[in-house]
Amino acid sequence: MKLREIKEGKVKLKIPNVEKSEEGEVFYNPIMTFDRNISTCVADLLPEILNKKRNDIKALDALSATGVRALRYIKESEINTWANDANPKAASLIKKNLKINNIEMKITNEDANIIMRKNKFDFIDIDPFGSPIYFLDSAARSFPKEGFLSITATDTAPLCGTYPKVCLRRYGIESFKPDYYNELGIRILISSMMKMFSRYEISLTPYLSYSRRHYFRVYGKIERGVKRVNREMKEFGYISHCFNCGWRGASLNQKCPICGSKTKFCEIYLGEIQNKTFLNSLKKKMEKRMFVKEKNLIDKIREEVSFSLYYDTHYICKKAGKQIKKIENIIKDLKESGFKASRTHFCPTAIKTNASFEELIKFI
Ligand SMILES: [Zn+2]
Repeated sequence: MKLREIKEGKVKLKIPNVEKSEEGEVFYNPIMTFDRNISTCVADLLPEILNKKRNDIKALDALSATGVRALRYIKESEINTWANDANPKAASLIKKNLKINNIEMKITNEDANIIMRKNKFDFIDIDPFGSPIYFLDSAARSFPKEGFLSITATDTAPLCGTYPKVCLRRYGIESFKPDYYNELGIRILISSMMKMFSRYEISLTPYLSYSRRHYFRVYGKIERGVKRVNREMKEFGYISHCFNCGWRGASLNQKCPICGSKTKFCEIYLGEIQNKTFLNSLKKKMEKRMFVKEKNLIDKIREEVSFSLYYDTHYICKKAGKQIKKIENIIKDLKESGFKASRTHFCPTAIKTNASFEELIKFI
């Protein structure tokens, strides 16, 4: 394997010197630097979140590849991290990267599920190519009373409704593709995680959930306790969507109340997927490290109103048979009429509002 040296954050890295990564090779994805920058800021906040001394926190980078996340957690956030990768080529590359950074770190070359079944971790990062679902059961068993989870899902095509049957098999919920597909996809992912954890009487409180390019990232706190899990389950509800007229509602309607067409529906988690207090602290950490683009994303999410399922204004205008109206004007009109409204990071042409579909149509 030919290598070249680069720098990411405060760590030096040897990465495969290839144009495109092939199967079985170690993968370094420069696009994910953005998310790793966010992750190091999240790791900074772990002592407060977990109410634990920084030195006592045990973290796992379960699918470590080049070791970049683990190295950055240690060097930039001073979190004791264990790097694991099932690929022997990755494990040997992580060792090389450890040496050039003068860092001490535990490295294993095992199936991530086995590592999590055998050991307890306060913080687990799962950054797979594809779905994280295959690792979540083991993660649930690995957390002590409290913990923190950070995951990536790159299988957005099933989650966002392009492959509904794959989504049903993998996540237990049949997806569909409405205008708010990014939010539906990330909520299906969160719902499926919550259901999996609830078996172990573990709750997952989302702290930060976002979609970017073709993947989702979710960060959340893990707590054991029946009461919390019961409360979380109460936040589940049906959403129904009519592909004929564009109507949607947080209720179970097999027929559209407006045009009478057959709807698509599913039961998902409808509660909060962001924690605004956490986002404020995260923003400060980003300012300190001068992560400008990352801070801009967090700012956008902080300004979003909390109502679920955004409306893509282009889709709504088309469905209403109207000319596309400027998004700023729609938001202004809604606010002047006493509704809450904002843009959303999920889609540049979309808004979030507490106005119903019927009310929104009037403004358009
Ligand atoms: Zn309809």
